Amino acid sequence: MEDALNDQIIMMRCLRKRMPIGFDLISVKTGKEGLEKTEKDKFDLLLLDYRLPDMTGLELLETLQKRHLQIPIIFVTSKGNEKIAVEAMKLGVRDYLVKDEIDSNRLVENIRNIIVESALPPEVNPEVAKHIAELFSTSTTLKIEILNILETYPKSKIPFLELISTLKELAETNFLEAKPSHSVVACPSCGSLTANPSLQCPDCGSVLLDKGEALEHLSCGYVDFRTKFDKGDSVCPKCKKKLKILGVDYRRVESWYKCLNGHFFGRPILSFACSECGEKFTLDEAALKTLYYYRLTKRGRQRLRLGLLENILVEKDNQPDHEINTERIKLILKTRMDTRR
Ligand SMILES: [Zn+2]
Ligand SMILES: [Zn+2]
Ligand SMILES: [Zn+2]
Repeated sequence: MEDALNDQIIMMRCLRKRMPIGFDLISVKTGKEGLEKTEKDKFDLLLLDYRLPDMTGLELLETLQKRHLQIPIIFVTSKGNEKIAVEAMKLGVRDYLVKDEIDSNRLVENIRNIIVESALPPEVNPEVAKHIAELFSTSTTLKIEILNILETYPKSKIPFLELISTLKELAETNFLEAKPSHSVVACPSCGSLTANPSLQCPDCGSVLLDKGEALEHLSCGYVDFRTKFDKGDSVCPKCKKKLKILGVDYRRVESWYKCLNGHFFGRPILSFACSECGEKFTLDEAALKTLYYYRLTKRGRQRLRLGLLENILVEKDNQPDHEINTERIKLILKTRMDTRR
């Protein structure tokens, strides 16, 4: 079985060259040995050959299932055995390869995807995690204000809220470290942070307002912006009398609002319109959200790095080569990382 050995060497070589993180590759000769290893230790991936000396790959899959051992598996069959591969897929393997047709690029890509997916919390969409990994490739800290800009940035197809909730998940599972930044107004109906504030007249609800220094002519009750009084000798535009002593017959109000319909008031109603769902709400009705900034933990750096494609530094694997004297392609891959969840 020279071919199988060659396949194995090729696979190992290309994994060593292209895996962006350090990993341990353990190869075993028999199904029994493989089962023992997977039972004893947590592995990230199993490369499983259909032809094992003591059982078939399918039998091994069934045993794993019976023992409730969950491990992502890539199944390897020889040419013409696609039927077996279909059976294996039914038993839950993630992918299968046909011997002699192994595309090393695809293999590495699949392994990376599988490891990223199995490492991520189940609620996290791997696509979003990949996107986050890309964001972290240019900066070690993500500030939420930057994310806000990224949402409107045409390249990002991931909604801001999904990004936020994924970041939260990743922080809860120790991929990221989260530090509170500041609190913001959020839409009470959809939770979006993209609410546009506007000021309203408390009397008529008009949103067209003017603001300025106002005078009130106490003797006749007329109120208007100072500029309306300042013609000539500060004459009241209503009763045409001259303003005399500040605080006696007239008073000054520093910042008053006037609506389109002529209402004067000191404090407009602060209201918001959600740009996501269109909901209108006041400050009292608004939801409040605390935003965080995020930093990758060591664990997160290792895991998320897998999600990045070519633009990453390849860490040299400095482990001595493992013995590869078996003619069976049955590799168990263990990434050299912290496996705590
Ligand atoms: Zn009004
Ligand atoms: Zn007057
Ligand atoms: Zn909304």
